Amino acid sequence: MALIVQKYGGSSVADTESIKRVAKRVVETEKKGNKVAVVVSAMGDTTDDLIDQALSIDSNPPEREMDMLMTAGERISMSLLAVAIHAEGSRAHSFTGQQAGFFTDARYGAAHIKAVRPDRVKNALSLGDIAIVAGFQGINAKGDATTLGRGGSDTSAVALAVALGADICEIYTDVDGIFTADPRIVPSARRIPSIDYESILEMASCGSKVLALRCVEYAQRFNMPLHVRSSFSRRPGTLVVPDGIDLRTLPNLD
Ligand code: ASP
Ligand code: MG
Repeated sequence: MALIVQKYGGSSVADTESIKRVAKRVVETEKKGNKVAVVVSAMGDTTDDLIDQALSIDSNPPEREMDMLMTAGERISMSLLAVAIHAEGSRAHSFTGQQAGFFTDARYGAAHIKAVRPDRVKNALSLGDIAIVAGFQGINAKGDATTLGRGGSDTSAVALAVALGADICEIYTDVDGIFTADPRIVPSARRIPSIDYESILEMASCGSKVLALRCVEYAQRFNMPLHVRSSFSRRPGTLVVPDGIDLRTLPNLD
């Protein structure tokens, strides 16, 4: 039995049909005998829409209130996913960043994770539940909601995987992994089956943007294997792993 963290980005949970599709995939992973914790982004363009709403009221809104506002996006997707998993006949429990034990510094809008103490997530998993965690958020020392910067849910997922001692962190997106170039622009672009952290960081700095840089650095620091793959297909994606690792030891590659 493996412990798997799955992260689903905004395009994978864009509407309720997508959320139902994701629920099926999560339950399928659980039914294969794994423990599953899920990190979700906000649905589709929700975060942008929330920001636009605030800016339509005041062009210089208070940072604290912006973070409070933005954390609402992930709360919607986490609870709808829990509902969808229940509808599939499995048990799921959703947690905000605060409930999942994400402690950050005080920088609103670009907070850094200081510690992750996911006691309630561990407890849910040990009871046989699927745990769902809102990405992109935590709390600062004052107890106020903070956000980790745009695209921050990837980092939430890796940080949760590290804190839980997961076997792999799967990052589900709308492309089949990481390619040698953007396949929408360069038709001859090839999918990279596996790559080490250092090489992906070099690629990222020349503009390949599938994974948030901070998430890769975090994974590298703790040797957490990543599997970047599409939630819309069954094809294998790209493994981002420590140099020299035996890929056959990794779970859920099919
Ligand atoms: N919802 C947040 C954003 O759009 C975080 C994320 O998607 O990773 O930036
Ligand atoms: Mg998003």
